[in-house]
Amino acid sequence: MKYLITGGAGFIGSAVVRYIINHTQDDVLNIDKLTYAGNLESLAEIENNPRYAFKQIDICDAAALQQAVDLFQPDIVMHLAAESHVDRSIDGPAAFIQTNIVGTYTLLEAVRKYWLTLDGAKKLDFRFHHISTDEVYGDLDGTEALFTETTPYAPSSPYSASKASSDHLVRAWNRTYGLPAIVTNCSNNYGPCHFPEKLIPLVILNALEGKALPVYGNGQQIRDWLYVEDHARALYRVASQGKIGETYNIGGHNEKQNIEVVKAICALLDEFRPREDRQPYASLITYVADRPGHDLRYAIDASKIANELNWMPEETFETGLRKTVVWYLNNLQWCRRVQDGSYQRERLGVQL
Ligand code: NAD
Repeated sequence: MKYLITGGAGFIGSAVVRYIINHTQDDVLNIDKLTYAGNLESLAEIENNPRYAFKQIDICDAAALQQAVDLFQPDIVMHLAAESHVDRSIDGPAAFIQTNIVGTYTLLEAVRKYWLTLDGAKKLDFRFHHISTDEVYGDLDGTEALFTETTPYAPSSPYSASKASSDHLVRAWNRTYGLPAIVTNCSNNYGPCHFPEKLIPLVILNALEGKALPVYGNGQQIRDWLYVEDHARALYRVASQGKIGETYNIGGHNEKQNIEVVKAICALLDEFRPREDRQPYASLITYVADRPGHDLRYAIDASKIANELNWMPEETFETGLRKTVVWYLNNLQWCRRVQDGSYQRERLGVQL
């Protein structure tokens, strides 16, 4: 099978590309604009595999996109390219509207035109898989309720509103034009190659540098955490076996308060890399003003994907977090090159 993956140089996209190349015989074309969040170094272990190819394309560039789709002739398109950081969406929503909404529309149209040229089994088996977030559902009151596939949309941030828009576009292209599409909505991911602006890598790296560990508000916001490689397996399962027209929620069954996550990282670092002054890393925790519109609790009911596609996460939060902290300790060079910008500068140098 031929998989066209958008956003394959990002955190989750790179895990999906690595999973497909390492665990299947399928071909992958990775289309990515390489924004600040795109890092080809996350694909170093598979970049020379003959089943993998990369094209630097902005999904808002209709002509370049159409050419790449028509040339590659994908069996499955997995759409992960997006602006993904909530804080950035509050400071500058324009890029989120452009990539997440206009970009998804542009991709849908390029794929629809290509799909209309197909016939026989290739047309019947074709799928467009849109990867989205549980943040489209807004937040939950109390500790009991869970997001299901039928929870009404109530996004809170420019990021989640733009993702909600893109989900609606994909479902409309399925219903109106018959484009065979599937949507997945997933909880917070964590794991290797996560950009250091996000909570878990930020805490690990700040702690190692003896810097403050910033926690929004009272730190009691609850997120449901999923190890990124479990998500990659789930996405491949949905893309290859999911039912067209359906939505699947994907979650880790790991609800944790942000402050619990930060303390768990501190405890792992105390174990693996004790501070010279023997003070616990938790002494670096600093509470900062809460994010505007901050959602209190997200939690996913992932029973549909478990029952229908037999997918369950393999990692608990404890095993996944341990692997993540070990990965960062072993890959400080990857982090430094992201933090000092050299992962982008060298790329630009090559192009010039
Ligand atoms: P990321 O920010 O790490 O990566 C996004 C990738 O998209 C980058 O490689 C970037 O260069 C690329 N990109 C951005 N704009 C583009 C454009 N205009 N054209 C082509 N490529 C472009 O994001 P991520 O965390 O890997 O998330 C991937 C997808 O999964 C997103 O759609 C996101 O909404 C969704 N998601 C993320 C999480 C999470 O916890 N990170 C959870 C659920 C769903």
